[in-house]
Amino acid sequence: MVTIAVLGAGLGGTIMAYELRDQVPPEVEILLISKGTTYSFVPSNPWVAVGWREREDIEVDLVAACTKRNITLLPQGAERIYPSENRIGLTDGSSVDYDFLVIATGPELAFDEIPGFGPQHHTHSVCQIDHAMMTRDVFRELVANPGPVVIGAVQGASCFGPAYEFAFILDKALRDAKVRDRVPMTFVTSEPYIGHLGLDGVGDTKGLLESELRNHHIKWITNARVTHFDAAGLDVEEINEDGSVKTTHAIASKFTMMLPAFRGVQAVRDIEGLTNPRGFILADKHQQNPAFSNVFSVGVGVAIPPMGKTPVPVGVPKTGFMIESMVTATAHNIARLLKGEAPNAQGTWNAVCLADFGDGGIAFVAQPQIPPRNVNWSASGRWVHAAKIGFEKYFLYKVRLGKSEPFYEKLALQALGIDKLKSIAIEPS
Ligand code: FAD
Repeated sequence: MVTIAVLGAGLGGTIMAYELRDQVPPEVEILLISKGTTYSFVPSNPWVAVGWREREDIEVDLVAACTKRNITLLPQGAERIYPSENRIGLTDGSSVDYDFLVIATGPELAFDEIPGFGPQHHTHSVCQIDHAMMTRDVFRELVANPGPVVIGAVQGASCFGPAYEFAFILDKALRDAKVRDRVPMTFVTSEPYIGHLGLDGVGDTKGLLESELRNHHIKWITNARVTHFDAAGLDVEEINEDGSVKTTHAIASKFTMMLPAFRGVQAVRDIEGLTNPRGFILADKHQQNPAFSNVFSVGVGVAIPPMGKTPVPVGVPKTGFMIESMVTATAHNIARLLKGEAPNAQGTWNAVCLADFGDGGIAFVAQPQIPPRNVNWSASGRWVHAAKIGFEKYFLYKVRLGKSEPFYEKLALQALGIDKLKSIAIEPS
């Protein structure tokens, strides 16, 4: 019997397992290896952190969905993968063999790279649901006893959208609590300019986001390298084009939430031929690893080179739609390999992003993600907030149902002129 293992049951891994189930014959065994039995929708974490969502609103029990779709869920998690043996060691000491492996383990959060950084130390986080729950408690303390706030993303970060989102969501939550006038806010970012987003901007994200920050009375510092966090705040070096230090800032902060740099998770790191030096999985245009041809990868864990040189390092974001396009390409390619055909599907890697501000937001489409682009569009408005809620409800519905892409989603995407696959027929097999 052929076995396909999907490692990681986050945004990419769950729909990967579902889409494989649709693409490969029913006798093929699909294993979904997760940490626990619950799926949690990461993009809603900023809402959880200000009390706009409960934990259970954004979680799905994977047991029911996997049973329905004939997918074997292994909730004990992986300790280590051994790609040269086609084997995964699990945390309970057992191991599973596979014929194909899709790695969807997302990011490890590199808080340890800056002294005092992270929820174990002096800052808060919305990257994981447990962090968001802890941040909510601190948010409540902030409302009771207001003071200065710093939001942003540190050197090496790649996920800037949630940093902007959280700044504006917090602003709205503090206005609702009638304490915003007692909370000076600063946005501190490694980006070379506001709205760069690791993408060298999309449409007029620079103008839109600068204007929104000004309208919401949020000051900003760009080209920022944080050297240290402590209970009083943080120390920041502002970096010149040539890499020298332009000026330093000691910023007082009572509540700091900054996105960390990401790296690959321990279970897959430091494997010759599989990963780059930060532990991200090397993948070609078919999502296939060049050294281990039966290993594919999707999601934040995939190695993508930065857009270009910036005074402070920034990475390229991997957004939900881009991840879904990786998933669709991978499912097609594994199905072809099972039929003895060569992989030929490429994800579009389009960046389609909705950044919610609580009562408005900005949306952008970068097609392809890397410039020069065919579509380079951004816009703002109240509709973005509604669209983000739609995205959340719809994605959770898909995960609950065990479906990757119900019919009407396909229609909606085609109506927008957005495709998940570049072409599945452009390369002869
Ligand atoms: P994840 O969803 O993080 O899933 C990885 C999974 O692998 C996790 O469940 C983890 O437990 C599991 N795992 C790790 N190691 C192991 C192991 N050893 N064994 C078993 N399982 C393991 N994108 C958007 O398009 N729109 C948004 O609004 C948006 N908001 C975001 C907000 C935040 C706060 C963050 C951090 C990101 C956001 N993103 C957003 C970006 C991206 O879509 C998400 O990060 C998304 O969850 C990434 O999917 P993934 O599958 O790569 O990783």
